[in-house]
Amino acid sequence: MRSTMQDDQLTIGAIRRHVTTVHPDSEVVTATPDGTRRRSYAEVGERVGRLANALRGLGIDADQRVATFAWNNAEHLEAYLAVPSMGAVLHTLNIRLFPEQLVYIANHAEDEVIVVDASLVDALAAHLGEMTTVRHVLVAGPDAASADLDALRSAGPEVHVYDDLLAAHEPDFAWPDIDERDAAAMCYTSGTTGNPKGVVYSHRSAWLHSMAVNTGNAAGLSLHDRVLPIVPMFHANSWGLPYSALMSGASLCMPDRWLQAEPLVRFITETRPTVSGAVPTVWNDVLGHLDAHDDVRLDSLRLILCGGSAVPVSLQRALQERHGLEIRQAWGMTETSPVASAGIPPVGVDGEDAWRYRGTQGRLLCGVEGRIVDDAGAVMPHDGAAVGELEVRGPWVTGAYYKPDDDSAEEKFHDGWLRTGDVGSIDELGYILLSDRAKDVIKSGGEWISSVDLENKLMAHDDVVEAAVIGVPDERWDERPLATVVVREGATVTVEQLREFLSSDFAKWQLPERFAFVEAVPRTSVGKFDKKVIRQQYADGELGG
Ligand code: ADP
Repeated sequence: MRSTMQDDQLTIGAIRRHVTTVHPDSEVVTATPDGTRRRSYAEVGERVGRLANALRGLGIDADQRVATFAWNNAEHLEAYLAVPSMGAVLHTLNIRLFPEQLVYIANHAEDEVIVVDASLVDALAAHLGEMTTVRHVLVAGPDAASADLDALRSAGPEVHVYDDLLAAHEPDFAWPDIDERDAAAMCYTSGTTGNPKGVVYSHRSAWLHSMAVNTGNAAGLSLHDRVLPIVPMFHANSWGLPYSALMSGASLCMPDRWLQAEPLVRFITETRPTVSGAVPTVWNDVLGHLDAHDDVRLDSLRLILCGGSAVPVSLQRALQERHGLEIRQAWGMTETSPVASAGIPPVGVDGEDAWRYRGTQGRLLCGVEGRIVDDAGAVMPHDGAAVGELEVRGPWVTGAYYKPDDDSAEEKFHDGWLRTGDVGSIDELGYILLSDRAKDVIKSGGEWISSVDLENKLMAHDDVVEAAVIGVPDERWDERPLATVVVREGATVTVEQLREFLSSDFAKWQLPERFAFVEAVPRTSVGKFDKKVIRQQYADGELGG
């Protein structure tokens, strides 16, 4: 028997229609050099219509790719709504990618239009000439008129000032009917090996993912919330926070390019967000700032979502106990839209036990299934002890990559499951505990040592700001851990003291004997520890032997 329900398509267009008509009074606030600029969702709706008309005028009439090269701000949000709603495909370019990768993905996706922030014109202009399919560039933001547009023009494409283009077009647009399974947006993984790989989200996957992020186990948003996505809109869709906020009528506070602790904290006290999301590094910096400024309290924030890499319990505790800020760890990847699980402790568990659960990647959100498998691909028990590679599947998990240019993509899938490349266990209650990325696993004398556990413990030391652990070749044990450590300014902690500190949680054979005190841990374009670079530094003799 078929249902009697209407078969409305789950599209970004439906989110756009909803938010601009049902929540016209909510707003998007964007940081400026000396304050904020505000736009109600009613105004956003009007501008989105104008943008769609403008893009249609530039020849975007089907599923062409419209890229963005932008920070988190109101114009980026307008592109998030206009481009998929008109049937085109939004491609969020990662502004921090290495130039070769940036050029590769723009060409691979065949981007035709790029919406660029005025503040990023120079960065784009330097490589625009190599982006062979780009025909138009729209320069957005308050400083667009004074930006160096000639640098863009000389690269070939036609250049427009975004606001001028919007002013020249009507707000009413004939929004097309769209199949929910069609492409809405695409994002490339930052590709630590080989070329970046493209993931194409459908309207349906974006819709379902946003609904899941909206549940109470994740962000639990309402129209009373104000959401501050610090995680970039060019990185895995800002964890779905923009669409989730729009769905629930929550306002958005956009930090634009001011992502350092000091301006961020100022922006938070001015715009009073209730929920925010960022990688651990950002919260680590915010923690340092708050510790140094007794008079600052971020009392508007009820929940901080954190992920992208393991979130040390020491960081979570420090924020909660010293500053009353609750962090919830979430896990996911570009391939999973990205949010797939969230670390909310079980009912009735508190105290130390609750912290243990908060240190996990949490339980899967409804819609995503997960399992762990051994090296031969056999499914392992969910007993909290068996350790294997995590595999997931579900309606917002990708089943393939977009036009892969090598066979390596094939290896990412196994019987319809996505192989995440993350290694860990799942316990009886479904809590995922990741101990490593498969390629970072340290195997010493045939036994695994978790680099993540070592890092978390090291970072719990009062004198340690950051720590990244890699495996290095060892004649006797095949591999041994090397800990690179950034110490707090003025601290004098020694290797022996760190080993002593670790020994409360680790067996003797697991303790690193190699330590390197460094100025900073190298990071990837999305702010994670770049272990590839650390390994290279070690190979080049920069980290001692
Ligand atoms: P990449 O880092 O390869 O560019 P993503 O940004 O999609 O790609 O990152 C996905 C990866 O980030 C996951 O596979 C996992 O290794 C790591 N990750 C994300 N969230 C967490 C978390 N909460 N704990 C540990 N690792 C995480």
